[in-house]
This record gives sequence, structure tokens and C-alpha cells, in this order.
Amino acid sequence: MKLSNIKLLQDCLHIRRLPWLSVGGREIYYDDIAHIELMSLNGRAGASIALEFKDGREMRLGLSSEDDVKRLKVELEEIIRPKVIRDENPFAFDRFGGICKELVESRGSNIRKVADFLINQGICHLASDIHMEYSGDGLQVFFKIDGVLFLAVTFERAIGERLINCIKVAAGMILYRRDIIQEGRITQITNEGAQDLRVSVLPSEPGERIVIRMFDKLKSESGLEDLGFSHEILEELKRLVAAPQGFFIIGGPASSGKTTTLYALLRNLKALRGHLSSIITLEDPVEYRIAGITQVQINPKGKLNFAGALKSSLRQDPGIIMVGEIRDKETADAAVRAALTGHLVLSSVHCGSSAEAITRILDLGVRPFLLNSSLKGIVCQRLIRKVCKECINNVELGQDEWNLGDSEIMTDSYVQGAGCEQCRGTGYRGRTVIAEFLENRDGIGHLINNTSETEAIEKAAVAQGMIPLRKNGIRMILEGVTDPKEIKRVVG
Ligand SMILES: [Zn+2]
Repeated sequence: MKLSNIKLLQDCLHIRRLPWLSVGGREIYYDDIAHIELMSLNGRAGASIALEFKDGREMRLGLSSEDDVKRLKVELEEIIRPKVIRDENPFAFDRFGGICKELVESRGSNIRKVADFLINQGICHLASDIHMEYSGDGLQVFFKIDGVLFLAVTFERAIGERLINCIKVAAGMILYRRDIIQEGRITQITNEGAQDLRVSVLPSEPGERIVIRMFDKLKSESGLEDLGFSHEILEELKRLVAAPQGFFIIGGPASSGKTTTLYALLRNLKALRGHLSSIITLEDPVEYRIAGITQVQINPKGKLNFAGALKSSLRQDPGIIMVGEIRDKETADAAVRAALTGHLVLSSVHCGSSAEAITRILDLGVRPFLLNSSLKGIVCQRLIRKVCKECINNVELGQDEWNLGDSEIMTDSYVQGAGCEQCRGTGYRGRTVIAEFLENRDGIGHLINNTSETEAIEKAAVAQGMIPLRKNGIRMILEGVTDPKEIKRVVG
């Protein structure tokens, strides 16, 4: 037996990462095992694994031959780093039940394969998240695609519990704790390289609820031009981030693509400035690694909070700082001060409109004149679903259908998706961004200084040329990108 094999076994048998073993066709579950030990070789030809079960049984697996080791190595590798057979086309959801049943029941098969199947299908379907929650007697698995949940498959409770246990172990969580919130990560190997998945589990009454967040590597790597911003907004974005200092905000509600935009801006800045200015990001969590940028993982429960990390990072003399999100006065104050002392500060704020981002920050208690002197501009964005190109058709515009209440619309028809297999019958496929851009110039500063209402700021911004979100959405309807129902859903 080679030394590398021993090393692999030791790594693999690290107890928290071992969900199960299958020996001679018999499945041994992690849950049942109290203790595992790899017996050392002591220079002899064989090795063995000692298993101690919770019910007192013991089992020793002798690994006398190289073949045994190879077999176990293959099995263990499957547990830790499953090989992924990625289908070119995602399976339809109505086939999931049958496939999973086969995986659970087939000989030598196991629950990890079901988990892998679901995760890989999530990647194939371009899902942003996989939700698992109990309802009635079963565990329901939902895929979130283009911002909407689809029920993919339901498992009977016993299988559901095994599936949740398997995912918890794979994500490095404490299996026996079912009463605490836990967070972990799974690295899934796919044809396109490793994908990092963030997993969180929430204890709840019917049973634990799991959400697997899929990081879309493609999206994280896309440039500013690929995100779908209009030409005008793109130009404004580029012009603003070219400024040597100032405070710049990306606004929007949850899941509106703010982080993707911030990453694209950072990549753009890195390409523009190279080593001329160093970039530090403060994030919770660090969703995606960007080469050449210092990324700091914030731990709000620990000692490293946003405000503290921001103050410390200023001592490292960065040119550009990205603060993942501004949620409190201390962080907002620190960000504003950094922007006033020669740094370009980028951040995101949870808000419905650009004007609201200003009142949000003022509501945190930031002094108006400080915000006014640091703030350069705000882009507020939303993600909208695009009409599916496979089943697109023109619809005559009826009198009562158009409730967007915009008198400037000059059209008598719009596009709509009829629903097909490609778009799972929804009529939509893929998403793009709509945005509004508010620049802090002309009368805006006066309104900030006087802590004016959101409406007043909005009105002034429109007067100085801001095209509001809703109007951008209507433009998307006129351009045949989406339909009125989607714009109504997203911007009201
Ligand atoms: Zn379609």
C-alpha cells in the first residue's frame, strides 16, 4: 500500500466528512457510528479501519490488499468529491421523482447520489438556490430559477431526513444538532471546475429547512457590459467609478443582483487601474474570489464587524474599498469618512429606489452634510425575467391590460411567451437588469442637506434627467425583452 493511499484514507475518514460507508453491499450510516479509527500500518502490508457503533457493535474492516484500498479509495472519493456526470440538457422536473427513486433503490446506491443529482440539476437548470422544506409527510425540494420557486420533487419523510443529514455532513455541519442555525459550504466538482455552494439549515417545527445557494460563476465573472445595463447607465457607471474618490452606492431589494454589479465594477476598476491603487473588500460572505483583490470575510457575531474592519483597512492604505452592505450607522459613518479622505468607496444599500437609498442612510443617523459631500451617485436596480425566445409571440394590446399608467407609451402590441418545455411553461427564460441612476448634482445636495423626503429627492432627480426604474422597465416592454406583467410584478 502506497503512502499516498494512507494519506487519502486519513483525510477521507476525518469523521465529520464521512456520511456513510458501503462495505460488501451493506450500507453503514454515519448516524449509527460512534467512532472511527484508521489503524496504522506499522510497516506491514495491510491496514484496517475500526468502526464503533452507537449500539455497541464493533466492526473492523481489513484492508489487506491494494485492491481493497483501491476499492475503498474509489468509494471514499465518491463521497467526498463525487464525479459528476453532467447532462447537456437538464431533466424535466416530472422525471426527478423516478430518477431519485432509482438512485435510492438501486444496488450499491446511496443518498449522496440523490443529493448530487439534485445539485447538478440545479446547476443545469441555472437555479440560484435549492430549497428543501417539510410539508405534510414529505420533504419538498424547490428550485429557484429566475427568481421564482418551482417544486422539483417530493420525498417521503424517511428519505428526506437521510437527504438532509447527508447535505449537513457534506457541508461540514454538526449532524446531531437540530436546534441551531448552521451554515456551511459544499464544493461540487463539475465539468466547468469546482463550484462553491453555500448551505444553511434552519431548525423549524416540521423539521430542518435547508437552503443551498448556488454561486453562478459565470455571472460572478461577467464584465460590466454583460450584465444588461442600458448604454446610458453603463456610461454613467464607468464615468463615476473613474473618479479618484467618493461614495458610490448600488441599491435594490434582496436578490436584485447588487453583488454581481459590485463585483463587475471591481473587476473593471482592477483592469483600469492595475496596481496603481489597491482594492480591499469587506464582505459577508465572500461570495466569489477575485484575483488581485484583498477580500475580508466579515463576521458580525465575532469581533470583525463591518465598521471595525473598515477602520482597520484604512490603515492599509487602499485606494478603493468595497463594503458589502451598509446596515448600521457606524458602518455608514466610516464609509462616508473614508470617501471624504481620498478613497473610492463602493457599497450596497437595501432600498426600493435611488432616492430611497439616500433617506435610508440619513435615517441611520449619518450627518446630512457629510453624506452630501461624499456621495457621487446611486444606481438602483432590479432583475426582470426575459420573455422566452422559444415560445415568443405578439399580443394585441387590450384597453384594460395596460395598467402601467404611462401616457407616453406608443404601441399597440407587446411580446409574451406562450410557455414551452424550454421555459417550464412559464413563458420566461433568463433575466436581465433594469436600473435608474441618480447623480448627486444640482439641487440634490440641497435636499440631502435638509433631510428631505424621498419623493422630493426623486422628483428633483427626474427633473435633472434621471429615467426612473419603471420607465426603464416600460422601455424593456417596447423593446420586446419582457412583458407588462413582469414589469408590474417587479416595479409595481
Ligand atoms: Zn418558452
